[in-house]
Amino acid sequence: MPSAAGLARTIYDHSPAFLRGAVGGVPFGWRIGRTYRTTLRFLLQSDVWGAEQHRAYQTERLDALLDGAIRRVPFYGRYHRLLGRPALRILSEMEPIDKQTVQADPERFLNPAVPADRTYRTSTGGTTGEPLKIILNKAGFQIEWAFMVCQWMRAGFRPGMSRATFRGVSFPRGGLWQANPVYDELQFSPFAMSPENLGRYVQKLQQYRPDFLYGYPSALTILARHYEMHPDVPVPKVKGLLCGSENIRPGQREYLAQVFKARPYSWYGMSEKVVLAGECERSTLYHAFPQYGITEIIDRASNVSQAVGVEGELVGTGFMNTAMPLIRYRLGDYASIEAHTCDSCGRAFTVLGPIEGRWRQEMLVGRGGGRISLTALNMHGEVFKGVMRFQFHQQAPGCATLYLVVGDNFNEARDLAIKKALHDKTGDQIDWTVTHVEDLPLSPRGKSLFLVQEIEGADSLVM
Ligand SMILES: [Zn+2]
Repeated sequence: MPSAAGLARTIYDHSPAFLRGAVGGVPFGWRIGRTYRTTLRFLLQSDVWGAEQHRAYQTERLDALLDGAIRRVPFYGRYHRLLGRPALRILSEMEPIDKQTVQADPERFLNPAVPADRTYRTSTGGTTGEPLKIILNKAGFQIEWAFMVCQWMRAGFRPGMSRATFRGVSFPRGGLWQANPVYDELQFSPFAMSPENLGRYVQKLQQYRPDFLYGYPSALTILARHYEMHPDVPVPKVKGLLCGSENIRPGQREYLAQVFKARPYSWYGMSEKVVLAGECERSTLYHAFPQYGITEIIDRASNVSQAVGVEGELVGTGFMNTAMPLIRYRLGDYASIEAHTCDSCGRAFTVLGPIEGRWRQEMLVGRGGGRISLTALNMHGEVFKGVMRFQFHQQAPGCATLYLVVGDNFNEARDLAIKKALHDKTGDQIDWTVTHVEDLPLSPRGKSLFLVQEIEGADSLVM
C-alpha cells in the first residue's frame, strides 16, 4: 500500500533490537503517538458529520493550505493575485499539476517555512513508472495511521489487533518473515511465495493466529490458492482481510471471502497523500475521506469538478502535507463520482465508482511457478538515479529482463547496483538481466507499460 508505515518502517528497521521487543503491554495508541490519538478521536467524531459540517471543515483547511502554499511555496507564487478570495474560488482557478510537473523541479514545491527536521522523504512506488520523491511532514505519518485505523474499524479492526502482512517492505535480515511488534505485525515476504515456501508460511500463520491478513490482493490470492490446493491445512480464522495498494477485482473479492471466510476490505490511497478512499461497512464503493483532502475529477474537456456522474481522471488536494503541498494533483487513475452521500452508510463522503488506471496487478513468475507481485518490487530510491524510464519483460518463468532508458548522466556502475537491488528483493526466484534500450513501447492509451508479460496465464492466479 502507499505506505502509511513508510517512516514507521524506517524507524523500526533502524531501532535497536532491544527496543523492538520492548513494546508488549504498551497500548497501540501510545506506541504510535499523540497526534495519532487525537486524529483518530477527531475522525471518529466527524464520521457522522453532515455535508455542511464537512464543507466548513474543508474550507478552513483549504484556506490555510492555499494561503501557506501561495505565500511560501515558489511554484504557487503565480497565484498571488488570488489571495483574499474564498478558498474554493482560489482552488477553482488553479491548474491541475501532475507527477511530471513536480518532477521537473521538485524544489519549487517545497515550503521553506517547514523546517527540514520536521519532514521526511518518501517516494512513489514502482507501478507508477518513474518514481517521484516526496517530502512529507513528520506528523503526517501518525495522521495517516489514524485514517487507516479509522477506516479499518469499518471492517471490524480495533487498535491493537494483530496482522499478518504480505507487502513489499524491506527484509534487511533476509528470511521469509519478520516480526514488527511496534505495529502488531508479522510481516511475510511477498517475494518468496513459491509453492515450497508457502508450506512454511501456512505453518507460521497457524502458530501466529493473526486477527487480520493485510496485503496486496494479488499476494493474498496466492496464499488463498495454496489453502485451496491443500484442504488438509487449516485456514487461519481471521476477522477480515485488509487489501491495499492494488485494485481488488470483483471475482477476486468473492474468492478471497470464500477461502478465508472473512470480508476483504479495500481502499485507495497513494504516497502523494492527496486522496484516501475506502469501503464502508456495507458498500464496496470507495468513500473519499473529506477530512483528508479534496477529491475532484478532471473530464475530457479539462474541466475539474466534483459533479456527480462525470467520469475522468482523479485529482486530489491533500490537507496533511504542508511541507510539499500538492494542489490539484492528477493521479493518473480514472473513476467517476457516484454520489456525495453513501446510501448504504449515510456518510457525507464523496463516493467513487470503480477505479481504473495505473493501479493494477501484475505478476512475475518465479522459478517453480511462484508468483511475485510487481507491486512488491516497488523500485525506487537512489539506486534508480539517472533512469528515465524502465520496463520489466518476462518470457519464461524464473528469469526476467529489466529494460532501462537512461539519461546522459547514468553511471554504468549502477547497472550492477540495480541488479543487486532486484536480486535482494526476489532472491533465487528470478535471474535478472538488465539491458539498456533507446525507447520503450507505450500502451494503446499512451501510458507507460510497467510489465510486458509473455507467459500465458501469468496472472491466472489473479482473477
Ligand atoms: Zn457507505
